[in-house]
Amino acid sequence: MTDLILGQTLSFSADPFVEGPSAAHHRRRGGVVVQDGRIAGLGEAEALRAAHPDARVTDYGDALISAGFVDAHAHYPQTGIIASWGKRLIDWLNSYTFPEEMRFGDPAYAGEIAGRYLDLLLAHGTTSVASYCTIHPGSAEALFQAAEARGMRILAGKTCMDRNAPDGLRDNAQSAYDDSKALLARWHGRGRASYVITPRFAPTSTPEQLSALGALWAEHPDCLMQTHLSEQPDEIAWVKTLFPTAQDYLDVYEAHGLLGPGGVYGHAIHLEPRERARLAETGAALVHCPTSNTFIGSGLFDMAGLVAEGQRVGLATDTGGGSSFSMLRTMAAAYEIGQLRHTPLHAAQLWWLATQGSARALRIDDRVGNLALGMEADLVVIDLASTPAIAQRAARAEEFWEALFPTIMMGDDRAIRATWVGGQRVTGV
Ligand SMILES: [Zn+2]
Repeated sequence: MTDLILGQTLSFSADPFVEGPSAAHHRRRGGVVVQDGRIAGLGEAEALRAAHPDARVTDYGDALISAGFVDAHAHYPQTGIIASWGKRLIDWLNSYTFPEEMRFGDPAYAGEIAGRYLDLLLAHGTTSVASYCTIHPGSAEALFQAAEARGMRILAGKTCMDRNAPDGLRDNAQSAYDDSKALLARWHGRGRASYVITPRFAPTSTPEQLSALGALWAEHPDCLMQTHLSEQPDEIAWVKTLFPTAQDYLDVYEAHGLLGPGGVYGHAIHLEPRERARLAETGAALVHCPTSNTFIGSGLFDMAGLVAEGQRVGLATDTGGGSSFSMLRTMAAAYEIGQLRHTPLHAAQLWWLATQGSARALRIDDRVGNLALGMEADLVVIDLASTPAIAQRAARAEEFWEALFPTIMMGDDRAIRATWVGGQRVTGV
């Protein structure tokens, strides 16, 4: 079966942080040909119709077809505690996160939340995510199974913590290694799943655990390793007391074998010059989580400066420290933080970050994150007039970016007309 999906289309031929908005390509009346779960053709709608007369046609009219969103950092177990009030990072973890994560020792609860979370993602147009789980191997098992059932490209790992966490929410160096290795063997490369080695962050792992996970990564260098880095000043000071011989926060990871090209570091707000230099040298990825950074009061990510240094940067919700499941809302928050730093981001840069940029951070940009021949057909279809407020603003737009920007700033799941995963429509009409 060949599907022909018609509408406005948006794709990228380069990085708009390097090439500017001309790296993006908009067709007013375009289309995507989908065969066997992959993109088999792109072009003008009428030419594609003529070339594929037997295709099943889905015509979205004025709606915009894009690669599905890629969320480069999230905590699916925090789905049920999103938008909890009034705490900063360490208190947030102790008050809200850890009690909720305790519940994931129950596989039935883990399965319920995993399914609910992925359905929320699809309703928001997000087709791939890199998620933390809890210390329980069953929490990772539940997410991988739920993603497999939905055909989604998923990256996830069991979170490892062996200190500074409550009873019932600690593993140890050996069990973290063993459990991660078993999950990796079972899921890494199975279907669309990738295993990600996942120490939560330096304060909740002993040096022995960090070393054990560094050893596991050395055995499986094709895996990503995800963790948190320099989110809040209190946290950084704590890391200094826990690892007094380290040069800085990043050095803690490097000293234990946890810095490399497949390293994915969430937040990375308060970086020292040495850390920035090492991150750029190694080609590691930094993930900007703007709704989380404002919600938990963490600080203003230096997008312009980091990108100018050549850092690999992705964009993420950080659910549930982040206050939204929506990558539209996340783009809006990234724009607002850019404004507070006097470096506003162009709509093309925001959209790239939410799709190809995040895919590049997760090293899956050869498979998802763009409309291009041979890519997996994970698509989102955006209604550019999804509410009266957005519609009246978009109606007076004189060019495409002006028509798209109100949806970036004011849009949410109501803007998601449909989501396609692996060439199948999974939400919407
Ligand atoms: Zn996080």
